[in-house]
Parts: sequence; structure tokens; C-alpha cells
Amino acid sequence: IFRDVEEASPIEVFHLMKIFSEDDYPTKVNLTVGAYRTDEGKPYYIPVVKKAEKLVLESTTNHEYLPIFGLESFTKAASQLLLGDIVQRQEEGSIFGVQSLSGSGALRVGAEFLAKHLKCTTFYYSLPTWENHHLIFMNSGFNDAKTYRYWNEEKRSLDCDGFFEDLSNAPENSVIILHGCAHNPTGLDPTKDQWKQIAEIMKERKLIPFFDNAYQGFASGDVEKDAWSVRYFLSQGFEFLCSQSFAKNYGLYNERAGNLTFVLNSTDNVKAVKSQVTMIVRGMYSNPPNHGARTVSTILNNPELKEEWLDTLKIMTGRIKDMRKALRENLEQLGTIGKWNHITDQTGMFSYTGLSANHVEYLRKKYHIYMLRSGRINICGLTNNNINYVAEAITDALVT
Ligand code: PMP
Repeated sequence: IFRDVEEASPIEVFHLMKIFSEDDYPTKVNLTVGAYRTDEGKPYYIPVVKKAEKLVLESTTNHEYLPIFGLESFTKAASQLLLGDIVQRQEEGSIFGVQSLSGSGALRVGAEFLAKHLKCTTFYYSLPTWENHHLIFMNSGFNDAKTYRYWNEEKRSLDCDGFFEDLSNAPENSVIILHGCAHNPTGLDPTKDQWKQIAEIMKERKLIPFFDNAYQGFASGDVEKDAWSVRYFLSQGFEFLCSQSFAKNYGLYNERAGNLTFVLNSTDNVKAVKSQVTMIVRGMYSNPPNHGARTVSTILNNPELKEEWLDTLKIMTGRIKDMRKALRENLEQLGTIGKWNHITDQTGMFSYTGLSANHVEYLRKKYHIYMLRSGRINICGLTNNNINYVAEAITDALVT
């Protein structure tokens, strides 16, 4: 029965991780992974997360199912982290969260809801975007994938005019995927004024925002600042969805802790909306997992632990900023061809370097430095130990 199954192409980031792990070159560098690394190049087990996990284990008395919508103490605190003071709206029911299988699961449930119950067929994602957006939305029942311009290759900056023009031409009821902050893969976010213009166009064109928030706290180091875009849309009276991932900002990648927030402008139909979300979750995975969500909830609902977590975010983003600065300085000192201000202009974990697929291949073959074909690097893969090596290799790649 399996005879006619065609092989799908490998997923680039996982494929590269595999060949990296098999490479025994002593100074190899991995700039592909979408995860935080310490200055020793190691994964980071955040101390306050470990502390909270202990509390979770000590207070766990059974492994009964959670409600279909997940742990309420988690979804409420997660939506508040995202949207600020929304307690009243949570109480009246016009804003609610659904625990999800990390950010991907939130996007998947949200997209299926939009396709099934709002009859949406067209979605727009930024060019470029996280490569999974396309697959998730197509699997959810959308059939018309469109892009909006975002990255200006020549200037290595945001293509504002292209972005606005593409939004202005989008058909009514299109779903627009917006990265709340720390855009993956470019590391470029719109300014506040640009967000205001985006909101204005979207309102006029009757477009539906779907915010993807996978990096709150990872752009500026401040969770409040990083939520500005989403909160602005809230203040402008939009109805929208927003996915949240706690993979990066809590280092809980494999625990699949996420939240999908629904923002409605009326409580009239909340019951029906919730009932249909229930059906989607029930038919897809039935119940969410407990551990990651309880860990996050324990931290968000305890002022002392939360403070410690916020401090940790500052340390992590501080290291990322230091590495951006060091890479730029190294490249400029070496007289590397091109301008390198975009490395420090960008935020978050990722940087779109502007290196071509040929440069990327050259760097992998000659120097065993791994990055995505698009030239995207994870800044966290840089350390004080390997930064000179990487800068010198890039310099060489650009003259070859
Ligand atoms: N959105 C974006 C833009 C991402 O970069 C990621 C993680 N790579 C996600 C969503 C979701 O990741 P996860 O499912 O691991 O939370």
C-alpha cells in the first residue's frame, strides 16, 4: 500500500543540523539552529525554569487530562503577557486563549478556524518568512498562498513601499500573517510609524491580522516593548488572532508550550466561537500537554520568579546584541566587501546577512560554517571563540 508514496524534500534546517553533527572538523560552526546558545556554544537551561519545574513536580498529584482549552492559569497569563491589562475583557469573554502545541500548534488551530468558520481562503506571508507558515496554512484548509514584499535585497532593509502596496492590493478577508517582533528570518521589524500605516491599510482593506509572536522579549529584551505592535492593533479595535510560543523565551523548545489568543469585539458570539475551537482541538490532538504550560504559568503568576525570568531575557538578548556588534566590527575592521550596518540594525536571534547561496556553500565547504541557503544566520551560534574565524571566512567568501 505504500508503494506510490513520493518522497518529500528534506527540511533544510533539520537536514543541516544532521550533517553538522556528522562533521568532525574541529572548528566547525553551526549558525543554522533556531535556538539560543551560550557563549560556550551550549543550549541554555534557564535557571528560573528549572526552579519552576521543581515546584511543578512537587505539586503534581496526578496526570489527569487538562481541559480541551488547556490550563486556564496559563492561557490567561500568556494572553496578558501579550496584550497587557486585559483582565476585564477576559472576564467578559471577548479575549480568550487556547493552550496550543507551541507556536506552530497555535498557528495550525487558528488557521483551521479561519478557513473553516470565517471562510478565509487567501493568506499572505512576508517575503521571506519562516518557512513553515506556508505548510501550516495550506494544511489548515487555505488554498491561495500569497506573499507581501518585506526585504529589500539591495538596501538590506525593509521594503516598506512594496509591503504597503501589496497589502493595499490584497482582497478583502485575506489573512495577513504578521511577525509581532524579531522577524524570522530577516531580524527587521517595522517602526511604530510603519506599524500604524500597516494597521491603517489593513483596516481600510478589511484584512484579518494573524500575529505570530514567537520571540516576545527576544527583540529588545523587554517583553512590554516587544508587544507594542500587537497592543497597537488591539487599541485600534481590530479583531484578530495571535499565536505565542514559549520555546525561545523560556528555552522550552520540546515541551510545546504555546497559546492562541482570540480577540473579538463583541461577546455575542463567543460561545459559538469557543465551541468550534473545541471541535478543532478535539479532532486534532484532543488535549494539550501539561508540563511546559504549568512551568510557564508558575513563573508568570509569581512576581519573584517572573522578575528573575525578565532579568534572564535581558542577559540573553544582551549576548545577542554583543555578538551582532562584534561581528559588524570584525567585518568592518577586516575591510570586508559591502556595508555591515544591517547586522546591528536587525534584532532578535536571526540575521539576514545578504550572503548568497554560493557564498553559503563556499563557507560550508571550505570553513565548515553552516547557515541557511538564504544567508540567514542565528546570531546565537557566534561566540567570543569563533567570531574572528567566522568574520575572516566571510571576508574570504566575498572576494572569491
Ligand atoms: N513562528 C516563527 C516565526 C518561528 O520562528 C517559530 C520557531 N522557529 C515559530 C513560529 C514556532 O515555533 P514553535 O512551534 O517551536 O513554538
